[in-house]
Amino acid sequence: MALKKFKMNPLLHHFNTAPFAQIKESDYAPAIKTAIEDTKKEIDAIVLNSDTPTFENTTVALDFTGEKLDRITSVFFNLNSAETTDGIQKIAKDVSPLLSEFKNDIILNEALFQRVKVVYNTKESLKLTPEQSTLLEKQYKGFARNGANLKEADKSKLRKIDATLSKLSLQFGENVLAETNAFEMHITDEIELSGLPESVKEAASEIAKSKEKKGWVFTLDYPSYIPFMTYADNRELRKKLAISAGKKAFQDNEFNNETVVLEIVKLRHQRANLLGYQTHAHFVLEERMAETPEKVISFSNDLLEKAKPAAQKEFAELEAYAKSIDNIDQLQKWDGAYYAEKLKKERFNLDQELLKPYFKLENVIDGVFTISNTLYDLKFGEVFDIEKYHEDVKTYTVTDTNGAFIAIFYADFHPRPGKRNGAWMTSYKPQQVKNGINERPHISIVCNFTKPTETKPSLLTFNEVTTLFHEFGHALHGMLANTTYNSLSGTSVSWDFVELPSQILENWCYEKEALELFARHYETDEVIPMEYVTKIKESASFHEGMQTFRQLSFGLLDMNWHGGDSPEKITSVKEFENKAFENTKLYPDVAENCMSTAFSHIFQGGYSAGYYSYKWAEVLDADAFEYFLEKGIFNKEVATRFKENVLSKGGTEKPMELYKRFRGQEPKPDALLKRAGLL
Ligand SMILES: [Zn+2]
Repeated sequence: MALKKFKMNPLLHHFNTAPFAQIKESDYAPAIKTAIEDTKKEIDAIVLNSDTPTFENTTVALDFTGEKLDRITSVFFNLNSAETTDGIQKIAKDVSPLLSEFKNDIILNEALFQRVKVVYNTKESLKLTPEQSTLLEKQYKGFARNGANLKEADKSKLRKIDATLSKLSLQFGENVLAETNAFEMHITDEIELSGLPESVKEAASEIAKSKEKKGWVFTLDYPSYIPFMTYADNRELRKKLAISAGKKAFQDNEFNNETVVLEIVKLRHQRANLLGYQTHAHFVLEERMAETPEKVISFSNDLLEKAKPAAQKEFAELEAYAKSIDNIDQLQKWDGAYYAEKLKKERFNLDQELLKPYFKLENVIDGVFTISNTLYDLKFGEVFDIEKYHEDVKTYTVTDTNGAFIAIFYADFHPRPGKRNGAWMTSYKPQQVKNGINERPHISIVCNFTKPTETKPSLLTFNEVTTLFHEFGHALHGMLANTTYNSLSGTSVSWDFVELPSQILENWCYEKEALELFARHYETDEVIPMEYVTKIKESASFHEGMQTFRQLSFGLLDMNWHGGDSPEKITSVKEFENKAFENTKLYPDVAENCMSTAFSHIFQGGYSAGYYSYKWAEVLDADAFEYFLEKGIFNKEVATRFKENVLSKGGTEKPMELYKRFRGQEPKPDALLKRAGLL
């Protein structure tokens, strides 16, 4: 019986493209469990090998373990995002702990580490290629950074810290969520909704209905909060909502996060010290392109200095504007988004509805295909014989201009129940060279663009156009991957480098030469008028000075929390935060508000000592695109350099080395400042 079951499970059979049509929900859990057991056996075989550890029999062998498990889990978790069901979600809850336990077992496998270490200690004499030495380094660090080199007593100390830290992050998130959910602003008089677009009112009335209330309800969830702050004319209500948002987990109640923050920061510091790092930031940045906290701080301060005049000018302008129309003397935090929106509208009057007819989805897809053909010699052919998980999904084979097979490309564009919000790129099969064969990847992008109707095709907003280019840029990183080891392939690069391929591609959306290829009116075939393009460009850099200031201030706050030598001495979260914000303040402080107690990116998610990455990535993409601008946005030589040194190289070498080989120099912030109109 068991044998029959095994035979019938398509996930446990060899497959090339994911066998979506044959998989039943009941196949996942047994397939994942079996694959975990098989991977354990593969690892045991490495550990029990009686030969002396070598690069091949240990480092490479370990990198090739778990292939089947990876393929099965990528199918499973991709579907959990793009086409989930209650059943899949339940399985995810069941298998996730098994998977993390399994990963932990590997990291804590002493005998395995000893073999890895033997190879690592002889690395100088092994004559490894740069990619091989990166693989060895990454593998060794994976153990060492989790305490494999520590004495027993310190190891158990580390485990204790880790256990406490994961509890604290969880608690941090729960507190923020509880505070978010505890608040609502109930409005019964429609006059108080003045300024809000119909759609925003409708959403608020839906929320009210769901709470069995009359009128309109606004909450601290972004889709409710942001439109209110942007459009509501009623200043008192904006103030009420903003202060309530700023108080999250900073009130005198059981959900207060002040102690949690101080405890997290202290424990992260202890953990870093235990592992031999000066601070948590040093620990994190060791594996990033920026490499050191000093570099992040000097990068941030440099950009801050350069953006300062623009930020201050924009702020003064906005304040004068608020004064002129509403006689506001002191611009407050709850005024910023509101007056900025009004000013922007006045200045650009850019109606999204006017632009949409120029961005029919099919035309935009053709555009991005043509651009990648011109730059990187890729050809996309739609195919209909590849299994897919939903009829909306489109499938393509990607070849180079000589007809050689490069990748399978899946594209899933429209929303439906069971798909999560947003847009992302993912893969079903990694690229790698195995037994001398270059196995090509299966890459997918998933978006939530407006669906076509019976009378109208799918017409994208400009924001959706840049989103498509963004995800397609990630997809190129995956498709053009050309490395030996799959753990270094494609998008397996450091966090502050991974957005370069995606963000750089967005730049083509603003260029006349590129827009002429695809931005044509879906009824008249007229190319988008240049005055629209100019407006798009100008409005894109609207208030970039203040925007830059804001992002940098969050990044510096993060570095302050995680890069200090003695976090145990910090007693007041608010005081510490105010000090960190000293150089980036534009609005008056609100005493009852605190950012850190709800800064989930760094205290709950994985962005600690990493928030700077957003701006860092922008500097990179602007600097890289500047090179294209200098030589022409379709210049083959520059494109080839980008392909050969960045897109195909994944994480095989240090990102700064790869970048310099493409660009001829380290990235400079000038191009970003120019693009953002800050020079
Ligand atoms: Zn991205």
